[in-house]
Amino acid sequence: MNIILFGPPGVGKGTQAKLLIEKLNIPQISTGDILRQAISNKTELGLEAKSYMDKGDLVPDEIVNGLVKLRLSEKDCENGFILDGYPRTLQQANILDENLKEINKKIEYVISLELDDSLIVERITGRRTSKKTGKIYHIKYNPPIDENEEDLIQRDDDTEEVVKQRLDNYHNQTEPILAYYNSHNIVSSVNSDDSVENILSNILKILGK
Ligand code: AMP
Repeated sequence: MNIILFGPPGVGKGTQAKLLIEKLNIPQISTGDILRQAISNKTELGLEAKSYMDKGDLVPDEIVNGLVKLRLSEKDCENGFILDGYPRTLQQANILDENLKEINKKIEYVISLELDDSLIVERITGRRTSKKTGKIYHIKYNPPIDENEEDLIQRDDDTEEVVKQRLDNYHNQTEPILAYYNSHNIVSSVNSDDSVENILSNILKILGK
C-alpha cells in the first residue's frame, strides 16, 4: 500500500503514521524526521536545511526530492510506504510520480487529515516528543504517564511565531496539491478533531482494513 498522509503541520500525521506502521507493516517516510536527523548529525545537508526550518520555510525541492527518491529505493519500501510531510509542493508531487513510475509504483491513497487553523496552533505549541522513544505527546491532551521517564523535548519550530509561517506556507504551497490528487480520485478526508483512536479507525476503514 502506497500512502500519502496529507494535512497541515500539527494535524496528527506523525502520530497516525507511527500507529499505521504497526497495523500495516510498512515504513513511515517523514521528510521532517529525516531532516531533523541530518541536523542532529551536523551534516552539511542538515546545516542548510536548518536555516529554512527555523524560519518555518520549506527546504528547497531538490534537497527533499533527492532524499525521498533514495529512501523509496530501499528494500523495506517494497510492500508499501507511508509518506508523511511529503510532497509539500506541486513540483515535489510531480517528481514523486515520475520517480515512482520508474520503479513501477504509484500512490494509491491520499489521506487528508483536516483541522481548523485555530486548533492547530494549540496542538503544535503543546506538542512534545520523547527523546527516548520518538513518541509524540501533548502536554494537555495526551501527556505521558511519567514525564521524567520520557525525557520530553519541544521542536525548535513548534513556537507560535514559526507555526504561523508554517501554516501560511501550507495554505499557499501545499494545500493546492490536493486538487492534483483529487483529479486522480485518490483523496479521502478524515476529520482530525477527534481522538487518536477514532482517527486511526477511520483511516483503516478507508484503507479497507
Ligand atoms: P514536519 O516535521 O513535516 O513538520 O517538517 C518540519 C520542517 O521540515 C518543515 O517546516 C520544512 O521546513 C521542512 N520540511 C519537511 N518536509 C518538507 C518537504 N517535503 N519539503 C520542504 N520542506 C520540508
